[in-house]
Amino acid sequence: MEGRSSPSGIGGTEIRILPYPILVADDALGHVAELAQEFAPAHRFAVITDSNVGPLYGRRALAGFPAGTAELFVIPAGESHKTRETWAGLTDDLLSRGFGRDTTVIALGGGVVGDLAAFVAATFMRGIPVVQVPTTLLAMVDASVGGKTGVDTPAGKNLVGAFHPPSVVVVDPQAIATLSLRHLRAGFAEAIKYGAIADSDYFDTVTRELPVLLASGGGRVSDSFSRLVVRSIEIKADVVLRDERERGLRKVLNFGHTIGHAIEALSGYEFAHGEAVAIGMALESDLAERSGIAEAGTADRIRHSLGVAGLPANRPVGISGDRIVEAMRADKKARGGEVEYALPSRIGAMAGSSSGWAVAVADDIVREVLQ
Ligand code: NAD
Repeated sequence: MEGRSSPSGIGGTEIRILPYPILVADDALGHVAELAQEFAPAHRFAVITDSNVGPLYGRRALAGFPAGTAELFVIPAGESHKTRETWAGLTDDLLSRGFGRDTTVIALGGGVVGDLAAFVAATFMRGIPVVQVPTTLLAMVDASVGGKTGVDTPAGKNLVGAFHPPSVVVVDPQAIATLSLRHLRAGFAEAIKYGAIADSDYFDTVTRELPVLLASGGGRVSDSFSRLVVRSIEIKADVVLRDERERGLRKVLNFGHTIGHAIEALSGYEFAHGEAVAIGMALESDLAERSGIAEAGTADRIRHSLGVAGLPANRPVGISGDRIVEAMRADKKARGGEVEYALPSRIGAMAGSSSGWAVAVADDIVREVLQ
């Protein structure tokens, strides 16, 4: 894995594992224009953002583009707007404002904007480039990397979408300063996931540093925060490099997401993605232990780390186990109606091999864990 100083003159770290660069640098938000023009040159630039992020960072992201080449498109914030309707509104808006094939989309925001704007880019004029500029911790460590784009439907999350990798990912850890504590905590769920699936030292470091890192919300974030972001990205990029289209290994990234997605959707998106994934990781690690896949103590360690992050780890009382099972069957991770889980064998390693990275678990164990 390669991480090195950015040659683009903005300092920080450039991660060159995937075909596109991922730049992590303080104040990178002030360099969006030059990076977009360098890595995804176009006649016009459509900066898609949401109603929270636009007022905070929209002007900064637009600065530096030649006059008249870049415009802001603002969608309402929140998962409930990651829909085909918002996609249709944005594509209509692009057309009515005269944007054509020679356009680059810039996704400025959290994972909702990232997934939606990149899906617009995947489909507008049969595909135009996208630059990811994540502004939540969750989007920095996870959603902005890997090229999965899409929208939710009434039947479930991310059921309509496309693979559309970005031309460059521009990460400015300082954007965390304005993020709510709730969404900061939610972002740590994915960082904990990266430790759990691939790197036990990283898992321990995140858990140990969490109290200090959580206190850094609202202020200038530290170098250790940036290092944490870089390491999660490296782990994700390494998995995506080996299996971009999720034919096998990439399934390990779904740890916590089979149950998590069901809970997220069934809660009507009351739970943030990271919160639902936290519950999913706790319950799926129970599944792993009870079915003899994970070594004893794995679930306890994951629960402990989630607890330090202030994240939930139990099935919400208002959502029954039966409804979760039913929702999981509708998820795209189910095969032939059989629900599959990506499960850890211990902290830092996932169960599986080239013949399969997701397994079905006996119904009685699932019901026991979800009771
Ligand atoms: P989000 O995009 O809804 O952002 C959370 C909230 O924070 C929103 O209200 C947003 O407006 C606000 N916000 C964003 N940046 C801010 C900032 N710097 N300061 C203040 N407020 C800010 O949610 P999220 O947790 O970032 O992303 C969740 C989404 O990501 C889900 O839809 C999930 O499916 C998707 N996701 C995608 C992938 C992928 O590989 N494509 C991976 C993980 C998650």
